[in-house]
Amino acid sequence: MKTFSDVVTLESEPVEVSEADLPKDTLPHDAVLKCKTCGIEFLGGIRTNPRSFATTTLIGYTIKCPNGHINSYNKADFTLRKATE
Ligand SMILES: [Zn+2]
Repeated sequence: MKTFSDVVTLESEPVEVSEADLPKDTLPHDAVLKCKTCGIEFLGGIRTNPRSFATTTLIGYTIKCPNGHINSYNKADFTLRKATE
């Protein structure tokens, strides 16, 4: 998989989440997206961890998949995968 740097929009703001509900995992993860057009999985260009991601708002994140489809994604569209590097 390749990381694409042509990220257009990233809106991020803190979200109120109680401490008990936060994931304990702070290891680096890659946020993976599944293209809404062709279904291919690709890196969304975000390096985060489950704990930080839980308090992040992502709306209208526009990115192009490796096959060239441009779509807009929200937080719920991301899957966190433990970084391997
Ligand atoms: Zn695609």
